[in-house]
Amino acid sequence: MAPSNDLLTMTPKGLFCEQGNFYVDPWRAVDHAVITHAHADHARWGSKKYLAADTSAEVLRIRMGEKADLRFQPLGQSQTINGVRVTFYPAGHILGSAQVKIEKAGYSIVVSGDYKRNSDPTCQPFEPVRCNTFITESTFGLPIYRWPDPQTVFDGINQWWKSNQGSGKTSILLAYSLGKAQRLLSGIDASIGPIYTHGAVEKLNAGYREAGVALPETTFVGEVDPKEIDWSQSLVVAPPSAVGGPWAKKFGKLSVAMASGWMQIRGTRRRRSMDAGFILSDHVDWADLMQTIHETEAENIWVTHGYSDVVVRYLREQGFNAKVVETEFTGEQLEGDTEPAS
Ligand SMILES: [Zn+2]
Ligand SMILES: [Zn+2]
Repeated sequence: MAPSNDLLTMTPKGLFCEQGNFYVDPWRAVDHAVITHAHADHARWGSKKYLAADTSAEVLRIRMGEKADLRFQPLGQSQTINGVRVTFYPAGHILGSAQVKIEKAGYSIVVSGDYKRNSDPTCQPFEPVRCNTFITESTFGLPIYRWPDPQTVFDGINQWWKSNQGSGKTSILLAYSLGKAQRLLSGIDASIGPIYTHGAVEKLNAGYREAGVALPETTFVGEVDPKEIDWSQSLVVAPPSAVGGPWAKKFGKLSVAMASGWMQIRGTRRRRSMDAGFILSDHVDWADLMQTIHETEAENIWVTHGYSDVVVRYLREQGFNAKVVETEFTGEQLEGDTEPAS
């Protein structure tokens, strides 16, 4: 087997393929960036050229702006860049999220970016890809993380909304504006009442609809006269930063909930002053992380942001050649970032 050590290396700017002369999800501005998805910790501004999966075109244009030089490649099709073969495969994390497979001389590395295995009608499902080296996130890489069935979670959200209607409270559902918000919208029962959105969410809803993802009807809060709306019947979907400021005042009595993998940890809801918390994550839980690693049949596993030490120790016990790959941001720091792990 050809050696892996020089196909992809970690540098201060991020993962670099010297032979292909491109970076994958670089943290700094570079000449050629190949990116897995449109979240801010993966798609950073300032690079000269970007290459991404074509399924991410609509959301990436919204996030990166008109000036960014974005190029797109269809999922499953390969392109050879300076002798290195590059192919995108779906990652199931958010719309357009992709794994990047890099191959040369019979050796392959898959950079999976962020990914999940749970059902999500707003994006293409994760596809396990065989490779020699698999680079995985470990945001929720502890055995305590075990996601409930998404339908059960949506039943709980619908129930919470109906009960707020009964007690005259506006239902404020907090979710990151790219990905989680649209997944929530696609899963809730829109017949319960009208749905309003914060501007950040509505902007990305437009991108999802443009990409052909079915979402229920939503109205941007800024488009209506707040005094004319019976907010107590409504669901408002907003990013976490929206509550606590003047923005939420117009809605009257509130019930605030958040949907995130972090809600599995006792105390998170209370610490964040939520009235309700729903466990819904766009990352793999422990069991899906381990299953995926086995399915790739990779002999080398590089583990990045999250609980990488724990995951690496466990994988070594299982006989894998595993190592931690340091990233600029860790799971906890990410949570305070613009588009955190959720
Ligand atoms: Zn992400
Ligand atoms: Zn991420």
